[in-house]
Amino acid sequence: MLPFKLIYHERYDLNLGAHVFPSQKYRMIHDKLLQDGIAQPEDFLSPEPARDEDVLRVHSREYVYKLKTGTLNRTEALRLEVPYSQKLIEACWLAAGGSILAGRQALNDGWAANIGGGFHHACPDHGEGFCVIHDVAIAIRRLQSDGAIRRAMVVDTDVHQGNGTAVIFGGDGDVYTLSLHQENNYPFPKPPSTVDVDLADGTGDEPYLAILEKHLHQAFHDFAPDLLYYVAGADPYREDQLGGLALTIDGLAKRDSLVFDYARRNDVPVAITLAGGYARLVTDTVVIHAGTVIAARDAAAQKRSTPRLQ
Ligand SMILES: [Zn+2]
Repeated sequence: MLPFKLIYHERYDLNLGAHVFPSQKYRMIHDKLLQDGIAQPEDFLSPEPARDEDVLRVHSREYVYKLKTGTLNRTEALRLEVPYSQKLIEACWLAAGGSILAGRQALNDGWAANIGGGFHHACPDHGEGFCVIHDVAIAIRRLQSDGAIRRAMVVDTDVHQGNGTAVIFGGDGDVYTLSLHQENNYPFPKPPSTVDVDLADGTGDEPYLAILEKHLHQAFHDFAPDLLYYVAGADPYREDQLGGLALTIDGLAKRDSLVFDYARRNDVPVAITLAGGYARLVTDTVVIHAGTVIAARDAAAQKRSTPRLQ
């Protein structure tokens, strides 16, 4: 049994078929974690959909209305890059509920993982790049509204910059956003996060990990969050179809461990979300995401005997 909860719903899967966005990955990760004996059925919690009032703390009333009534215009619908359906909306509201629940569980247990979410390109008045609503921002605003947290940090290691996160939290001194991403990749332009790290094409494990460590060090020196949301994209992988970095599966696991190590040593609870992953073999994407859960399990097992890293 894991020392923390995994949040998952079978309706995260949109059954998009041959689409480059492999929405079946959520089910495959769930199944793999069980089959490999990493998790037991009782480790999983099923989320409720986010409430509309939670979504409306981040997104405009007009945009939410269009999503719920299926009245996006053609340009708005195309910009999502996933086919609009009521099932899509249901899945997105569930993913946002999942990230709220992950945050709540992390505050209780120190760790939690939403086997979904990380839709970091969604902006207040539109969705784009497979992201309809911003589950992590919705979760942070809900937990702040409940008085459960005041300050949050978002560490985003998806290969694509977290433009939605940057726009939503721009100028908000209570939310620190760090994005490590490939410079020559979507989105263009890249609105400023608290800290953006633009990586060169083909950056591999060693330089990536050194750069990540430097920025984690700085982030935890500059800011003391009540909760960390980790947007753990699988797409910095060297075999990714939409990414141009060159991390190995082992390097990605080390990346996760590094993030968790800094959080643990600074006593900051961690809520994990998955974000992108478009490896040529979907099984690689699944192994990378499952590896994030394993890295969290191993970090949670470490004693807090090591000094604070700052
Ligand atoms: Zn991505």
